[in-house]
Amino acid sequence: MRRLIADRPILTMTSELGQVMALGRAREQAGERVLHLERGEPDFDTPAFIVEALATAARAGETHYPDARGTLALRAALAAKLGRENHIGCEPDDIVITAGGTHALFLAFQGLLSPGDELLVLSPHWMAIPKLVALAHGARYRTMPAYLELHQGAWTPQAFADRLRAAIRPETRGIYLNSPNNPTGAVLTRAQLEALAAVAAERDLWVVSDEAYEHLLFDGAAHVSLASLPGMATRTVSVYTFSKSYAMTGWRIGYVASPPELRPVMGPLLSFYTTHGVFPAVQSAALAAVTGPQQDVEAMRREYQTRRDLLIAGLEGQTAIRLPSPRGAFYAFADVSGALAGRDIWELVREWLGFGVAALPGTAFGPEYPGWVRLSLATRREDVVEGARRLREHVAIPAASGARAARG
Ligand code: PMP
Repeated sequence: MRRLIADRPILTMTSELGQVMALGRAREQAGERVLHLERGEPDFDTPAFIVEALATAARAGETHYPDARGTLALRAALAAKLGRENHIGCEPDDIVITAGGTHALFLAFQGLLSPGDELLVLSPHWMAIPKLVALAHGARYRTMPAYLELHQGAWTPQAFADRLRAAIRPETRGIYLNSPNNPTGAVLTRAQLEALAAVAAERDLWVVSDEAYEHLLFDGAAHVSLASLPGMATRTVSVYTFSKSYAMTGWRIGYVASPPELRPVMGPLLSFYTTHGVFPAVQSAALAAVTGPQQDVEAMRREYQTRRDLLIAGLEGQTAIRLPSPRGAFYAFADVSGALAGRDIWELVREWLGFGVAALPGTAFGPEYPGWVRLSLATRREDVVEGARRLREHVAIPAASGARAARG
């Protein structure tokens, strides 16, 4: 019987990623090679000039308590970046530097969700979202499938707006949007975002726009920030991170840009009483990252695009695994219903681990995806190629043979 753990739903929630990683580790400990297509962490090291900036700042004594909102120098540089790149007009005081995008989302949900409120989460969604909502006292979420439909052009912007209207309930207070999307690689077009913006304005909803993958775009796709659309700046909280663009996952630094109405809570209350801000020397390194040369960002983007092409080419000639070609982020979301042969997704994921391919079950990204898996491109190029080869070899079995026959 649980005696010490508090009686809160969040504390009993499990992590599919944690489970797959543990299964993978067990196989590695047994001496097997596992291709890590489950993790969403860039395999690149942080560019050297950013690491140098950290060392210089730490040696210069930037080791004291930070301003809980972040240094003015970094917030000013980010306000300039948001204006220049994202076309979002905001003041440094509308920005709070956070311990990564996760913490930025935590602050956003804490600041925006009252008990009884519901967040409408477009799906498939990043798997941390249900937990982050559950941490907001008394708040709930509901999913609405959208990214695959929008990505594949199955809905016009008008049809998207109609679906949104139908999904909104009296307790719906806001929408969680993530473009470029983890896990589908969908990048919403301006017209699609305008449709969402029109519904948000009409129903007086706020939107949390998670732009963690803003720089990771393929085939010339353009990133449009929701807050840049007319009338949206006052109802959009925009979330960013250094983790993906600059391969800085371990540094724990991101930022959130909010409407001025949220100034009294985001920094002075929520950031202050959760982390009390971010290590000042890390903020100086982040300043170097945004103001310095951006060619590493571009080199990594190009490499992810190459890996995407290799994955798709490697899976050609079979029909059991189908994936819509991602246009951004560094994941591919694959329809594996043709490979299930009556099994559930966890049985399939376990079988794949048996031949050394780790993938995440689609159910981690919303209840609507029991026939899908996420494959990550944030792993070495050779491993993406070898992973595709093993999948084609083991999965592309003609119907009525292999696993199905084995199950009788
Ligand atoms: N948003 C999305 C959509 C993500 O995929 C992630 C990380 N996987 C984050 C936010 C947060 O990343 P971090 O906390 O490392 O900045």
